[in-house]
Amino acid sequence: MIDAEFIFKGGMTLVLVSVVLVAAIYALGFLRATFRHKRQLDKQARFNNILLHNMAAGVVACDNNGELCLFNDVAVDWHGADATRLPQADWSKHYDLFEADGTTPLTPDRIPLLRAFRGQPVRGQLITIAPKHKLRRLVSTNADAILDSNGQRIGAVAVMHDMSSEWATRQELEQRAYIDEQTGLLNRAGLTREIEKLVASGAGWEWSWAVLFLIDISGFRRLNQALGYDIGDTILAAVGNRLRGLLPPEASLARIGADEFGVLLGQVSTNEGAARAKLLALAESVQRTIGEPLDIGPNNLRLKLSIGASLFSPSSMGGDELLAQSGLALGQAKASEATPIVIYDSAMRDLLIERRALSAALEAALDNDEIEVVYQPQCNRAGRVVGVEALSRWAPDGVPCSPVQFISIAEDSGEIIRIGQSVLRKACAQLVAWASDPSRAGLSISVNVSAQELEAEDFALRTIEIVQQSGAPVDRLHLEITESLLLKNTEHSIKAIRQLRQNGLRVVLDDFGTGYSSLAYLAQLRVDALKIDRGFTARAGDGGRGDILLQSIVSLAKQLDLQIVAEGIESIEQLGHLEQMGCTLFQGFLFTPGVPADDIKTQYSLSQPGCSPTNVADPVPEPLSS
Ligand code: C2E
Ligand code: MG
Ligand code: MG
Repeated sequence: MIDAEFIFKGGMTLVLVSVVLVAAIYALGFLRATFRHKRQLDKQARFNNILLHNMAAGVVACDNNGELCLFNDVAVDWHGADATRLPQADWSKHYDLFEADGTTPLTPDRIPLLRAFRGQPVRGQLITIAPKHKLRRLVSTNADAILDSNGQRIGAVAVMHDMSSEWATRQELEQRAYIDEQTGLLNRAGLTREIEKLVASGAGWEWSWAVLFLIDISGFRRLNQALGYDIGDTILAAVGNRLRGLLPPEASLARIGADEFGVLLGQVSTNEGAARAKLLALAESVQRTIGEPLDIGPNNLRLKLSIGASLFSPSSMGGDELLAQSGLALGQAKASEATPIVIYDSAMRDLLIERRALSAALEAALDNDEIEVVYQPQCNRAGRVVGVEALSRWAPDGVPCSPVQFISIAEDSGEIIRIGQSVLRKACAQLVAWASDPSRAGLSISVNVSAQELEAEDFALRTIEIVQQSGAPVDRLHLEITESLLLKNTEHSIKAIRQLRQNGLRVVLDDFGTGYSSLAYLAQLRVDALKIDRGFTARAGDGGRGDILLQSIVSLAKQLDLQIVAEGIESIEQLGHLEQMGCTLFQGFLFTPGVPADDIKTQYSLSQPGCSPTNVADPVPEPLSS
């Protein structure tokens, strides 16, 4: 029994000691683990702290009450300030925060940390941090609410990345797209952007008037070619400087074409009449100032300008449309020496609309081959028809449209190339058809060539190809090139003309006397004939300056061994005077206007006042002997 009791007590003691021992071991283990865990947490916190303050990004955080509680070193540096207990509504005031544009203050509802605090995660929001006396930075921000393990919000954090240099590069690249490299002014796209900004910002000031000017330097191409491109560049820079000096600082100044400048003035006046008066006053002072002698090297130049302007009230009109309107006014100013300043009005707008409609109709007419060709005879002194000029005719909806109008529309739209080729093909087919008719086999056909056609790189080759493929006698095909057109690209034109003549085609200088008649050009050009413009032939026999000019043109042509055609002859008296001066070929309503090929007569009687036609079967004499 004793033994049993003894054993029982001993056993219990052992169990107790064991339990205490195990408990002690566990307690020790727990304490060690807790201690280790705390050490680990401390280590982690120190690590996080180092990370937080050494990262390149800026970090800010707020606590559960929305109070700022953390700015890492980078954020302190960028903001120039530490976390400060402030009402949330005052954060943007205290920390100099702006939208990406750098100027619009960031309202509290746009602050990324606050947005995240309210439960809207933020990804890549661009904001500007611009503390006084510190660098302005554009930062991309991500922000999120911080939640505890139960999903309860305990604060918010925002992480910011500095995008300033990427942004600066992007802006510089963007800027370049809007700048004219040569003058440093805005280019056309830049001006369009400024107009659009103005129109967009002007939604609330409907009753204000703004002004868009387009300025063209008269005869710039000629100056450029005569004086050299360096001087041309200096002229452009001088004009740009003079304009800048005249304009108020808020005006936008652009170079929008080779010799075309654009000026945009916002909110000139709230009164239309006053705005118009200001516009005219400014345009006149621009004319005067630019017209003052320009001392460039040995040359003392006086420039002349044409100005087209639009007066507009901000509306839904786009930049391109406004530029087109002012362009229309500029076109009128360029066309008329008497009015170098033209303000766009709605009648011009109607014209623009009409031109657009005609342009579309012309395209369709070309697709359907509805452009017809008539032929106006050219007679020699004996009244014998030696050649004809091919003239295009188009009658949309049966109403004839003047070639002056539709040719200029086609030049604007580029369709002139198709018209030119179509007329050339028809003229060649006509020459082929006449080849078997002895009374007409010797007739030549003159085809008019527009600037855009001649400027095309492959014009000469393409023309030669069409003529050769048609089987028409090449030397019967004459090309009429307008004199002033040659100035546009003299070197290219000279090369093209040489190539055409080397291949047997004849080249006539049309409308002679209307452009910049210059001996130097004529000597370089080597053409076959001059066609004296109607403006001059109409003055034949005036006993004054008209006769003197005509006489000098005729003797100039003789010196250069060129044939002379007098166009626009309307009376037998004119014909007599021109014949006496030495003209050998005549074209005009005195004989006939342009007629269909089948109606061409081959002989006119010069002895009668009406120059009545008669048909003869004799071979045709050579029209142009080069
Ligand atoms: P242009 O080449 O100088 O053609 C002569 C113009 O004067 C023609 O006008 C003709 O009808 C007109 N005319 C001829 N004799 C007289 C006259 O005695 N009195 C008056 N008042 N006018 C006369 P049209 O046919 O209206 O053509 C005008 C211009 O349009 C042409 O001037 C030419 O530059 C252009 N043109 C006509 N057809 C074509 C074409 O197929 N291609 C190109 N590129 N231009 C063309
Ligand atoms: Mg002609
Ligand atoms: Mg002509």
